Amino acid sequence: MNTMTRTEPSFRESVDLMFNRAVALMDLAPGLEEKIRVCNATYTVRFGVRLRGGIQTFTGYRSVHSEHMEPVKGGIRYAMGVNQDEVEALAALMTYKCALVEAPFGGSKGGLRIDPLQYDEHELELITRRFAYELAKRDLIDPAQNVPAPDMGTGEREMAWIADQYARMNTTDINARACVTGKPLNAGGIAGRVEATGRGVQYALREFFRHEEDKAKAGLSGTLDGKRVIVQGLGNVGYHAAKFLQEEDGAIITGIIERDGALFNPKGIDVEAVRAWLVRHGGVAGFPDAAHTAEGGAVMEEDCDILIPAALEGVINLSNAERIKAPLIIEAANGPITAGADDVLRGRGTVIIPDMYANAGGVTVSYFEWVKNLSHIRFGRMQRRQEEARHELVVNELERISDALGKAWTLDPTFKEKYLRGAGELELVRSGLDDTMRSAYQSMREVWHGRDDVDDLRTAAYLVSIDKVASSYRAKGL
Ligand code: NAD
Repeated sequence: MNTMTRTEPSFRESVDLMFNRAVALMDLAPGLEEKIRVCNATYTVRFGVRLRGGIQTFTGYRSVHSEHMEPVKGGIRYAMGVNQDEVEALAALMTYKCALVEAPFGGSKGGLRIDPLQYDEHELELITRRFAYELAKRDLIDPAQNVPAPDMGTGEREMAWIADQYARMNTTDINARACVTGKPLNAGGIAGRVEATGRGVQYALREFFRHEEDKAKAGLSGTLDGKRVIVQGLGNVGYHAAKFLQEEDGAIITGIIERDGALFNPKGIDVEAVRAWLVRHGGVAGFPDAAHTAEGGAVMEEDCDILIPAALEGVINLSNAERIKAPLIIEAANGPITAGADDVLRGRGTVIIPDMYANAGGVTVSYFEWVKNLSHIRFGRMQRRQEEARHELVVNELERISDALGKAWTLDPTFKEKYLRGAGELELVRSGLDDTMRSAYQSMREVWHGRDDVDDLRTAAYLVSIDKVASSYRAKGL
């Protein structure tokens, strides 16, 4: 799938090229540009784990891109393709992403070179705990310095093991739970974190579709209702994004691309049913209600309104960019479009909602989880019932007036039910995420439309975030 040609830059070079395009339009102090661009440090660890009667050696990385704010933050990925270049590129994107959505973190990322499907749960626990031990003893997992999260190949389960491993090594740290985010709810997690990145993609698209001028740039109109969507990767991010768009916004998911090929049906594919099939069979082949093609990448080139690459980097590159027909691409994955492909697509007028914004829902809700862990209280616990009591006062008063007027009008029972319900943690998380995605979009959009020398959202996103990182450095006297 990852068929990058030889002339294509690496992932990290791609990120740097996009960064350079933006800083060329800025007036940064000499040297500051380089200070922001370079990755501060990358730690490589090789450790052995006793498995299956022998010792297996694993290679892992934790890269810290920028410490202009601490802790630094970024996911841990489990995949065979993990390497230093990739981890550094992802760490850099984290710096820019956190700045753009105003999450008070520097950028980091981790990875372990492993195919998680080849190990059972107990083996994965041993490997994860050992990796966490190696990172924690060097402060590369620490509530105040470096806070990992899930990424490709990892989820709540791995985060719970990491949190527990850190707690065992730091028995008196009252904030131990804040050492990692994306934990299960019963281990200090937060409602709405699992689906947060996919939810963020949905909120980003909703915000895009609120602006006539922006839709016009992609040659689109109307709402998300009826829009044809192709998604690559039905994992955490792709599944939730596609599911919410289908169930809540009326989008038609016409194509789903997975490791073992793609499903296509112009009438739409039931995302929930495909996900259940994928979990049961390990692939999408054989799913009854759509045509299957083994050459999955070709489905990215089908006619559609919105393309959502949500699997891995570099999938839209110089070898296929010319054939991508979608007028709007939202980068749910990190780095799915190479710098070369980005040039080609921009040249053709394709609108790209960039990764650093599009998939920032995950880190945004991770930020809420970290704050929850540090404050040791669930969001909404103090105010929910008080809010309900105040709303009840209003409803009672309205009903009293209605009675006095001989019931000339009455309250709609659904309004009453909705209005009386105080916001719990999930509602507050969704509200905070929606607000974050809307505000960040506004900040990019102002630059996109407001500057003659900026004609794409990615450059706009870089300008906004680099400016924020530069201000932090300036405030530190650098
Ligand atoms: P995941 O492991 O849950 O899902 C990835 C999916 O992609 C899997 O279903 C896998 O089978 C599929 N896939 C793998 N290789 C493929 C290929 N060659 N073609 C088609 N499908 C393929 O991972 P995820 O957490 O959903 O992450 C996906 C992307 O989103 C990554 O780029 C990640 O960095 C980014 N991201 C994730 C989060 C998060 O909160 N999980 C946050 C921000 C960004």
